Amino acid sequence: MADYLICGGTSYVPEDGNTGAQLFSTGEGLTYHDFIILPGFIDFTAEEVDLTSALTKKISLKAPLVSSPMDTVTESEMAIAMALCGGIGIIHHNCSPETQAQEVMKVKKYKHGFIRDPVCLTPQHRVSDVFDVKKSHGFGGIPITEDGKMGTRLLGIVTSRDIDFLEPNSDKLLSEIMTPFDDLVTAPAGVSLDKANEILQRSKKGKLPITNEHGELVALIARTDLKKSRNFPNASYDANNQLLVGAAIGTRETDKHRLELLVNAGVDVVVLDSSQGNSIYQINLIRYIKNTYPELQIVGGNVVTAAQAKNLIDAGVDGLRVGMGSGSICITQEVMAVGRPQATAVYKVAEYARRFGVPVMADGGIASVGHIIKALALGASTVMMGSMLAGTSEAPGEYFFSNGVRLKKYRGMGSLEAMDRKDTQGAAADRYFHGEGDRIKVAQGVSGSIVDKGSILRFLPYLVCGIQHGCQDIGAKSCSMLRAMLYSGELKLERRTVSAQKEGAVHSLHSYEKRLY
Ligand code: IMP
Repeated sequence: MADYLICGGTSYVPEDGNTGAQLFSTGEGLTYHDFIILPGFIDFTAEEVDLTSALTKKISLKAPLVSSPMDTVTESEMAIAMALCGGIGIIHHNCSPETQAQEVMKVKKYKHGFIRDPVCLTPQHRVSDVFDVKKSHGFGGIPITEDGKMGTRLLGIVTSRDIDFLEPNSDKLLSEIMTPFDDLVTAPAGVSLDKANEILQRSKKGKLPITNEHGELVALIARTDLKKSRNFPNASYDANNQLLVGAAIGTRETDKHRLELLVNAGVDVVVLDSSQGNSIYQINLIRYIKNTYPELQIVGGNVVTAAQAKNLIDAGVDGLRVGMGSGSICITQEVMAVGRPQATAVYKVAEYARRFGVPVMADGGIASVGHIIKALALGASTVMMGSMLAGTSEAPGEYFFSNGVRLKKYRGMGSLEAMDRKDTQGAAADRYFHGEGDRIKVAQGVSGSIVDKGSILRFLPYLVCGIQHGCQDIGAKSCSMLRAMLYSGELKLERRTVSAQKEGAVHSLHSYEKRLY
């Protein structure tokens, strides 16, 4: 009681919790599980929290979320969905340079609501071919063009109503059953989505082909898509109003050719994909890129120490990717005995890199919204995710069932399966082996599966909303304020014992269902 009186009533608040500097000064490596953030003061709504954050020196995102360049996570479909929701996707390079550039191009050419690469057939195809397409792609409106490709003359369209009463193995020619061009309602290239929407509604048709002045098919609009179509006010756009996209490359001589194709396709940022980025190969490549494509943004990495970061910053990177051994599919720490617990890695590198204005991306080990908030609170500007996104419908690969559970494949790029993939020119293996030939491959990742998460277009808004609520509890009205609070010492953190971690998870129940949104 006496103490209260001496300290002058409520104006005295004792020191409580640790600053970032105190928490990470003990010499122990911490993971996201090992600490918790203490709550602050709320005088704003969660919706007001501004999540704008820097991906690189010149690119910022409205949502600090990045999809990992893995062949079970990011191709064009994922990258489009990520960018629509305010983040960005990094297209993997476990494929030929041409295929990767094509995927980048699909994102850059994407216009919401316009299908740029619909499956087409020719008048010489048969009804059975339509059934095959329907089976593999699940839709029935197929444009019929001269060569069976986009960009050639539109001759007609076949819809499910044209084949309803025909046998799936019918060999009738499509020229006999298609609705010919003269009877079609089309719209001219350059039409706005609103106008196309209006034409489609008036025509009462299911599909609206868009043709250029030569009658060649350039896009298609589907009534079902329009019904689904929503606004994406936070989408990540470049100066030309095209979606932002990144691509990963290795550090071999041959990657210069890959890079050229990617730049021609319009890539906004390249991620130099090495598990240990502090190498002469990466430094030389950064210098080469800065000389050859000065406008291109480069994320270097991966790094987990300030000493590693220094070399890449000196070479000229615009962003750093942080993490070694924390990925869900990763066995690097087990096999190589090298790496760092992720919370410490993020704090140490971000604390160093901020002096040079180089943003940090926390890569790997994100298993919940809470981990994203922790990564941002430790100084990261963005987070990169693999397992969080691999089960969504936009991730490459088909769903399959195992014991009644709907799953998708998810594998490490250093798994033997990914490194052995044909048609890749050894791209995945490059991430793990520096300038070496075809010696024995030592796996640094595993191959597994992940539960269905539905669409990214629902999942990312949940993540965004969750991050906003976390920031609100901390008392940070924006991502930059959160970082400012960390470095001023206002943000307070606390170590969690093993029992504290148990207490912080669901416990003492007989059974429960964990539905997140
Ligand atoms: P996750 O989000 O925890 O699933 O981790 C994804 C991250 O793990 C990627 O962005 C990569 O940095 C890393 N990664 C991908 N494949 C491998 C691998 O085979 N071994 C080790 N790390 C990997």
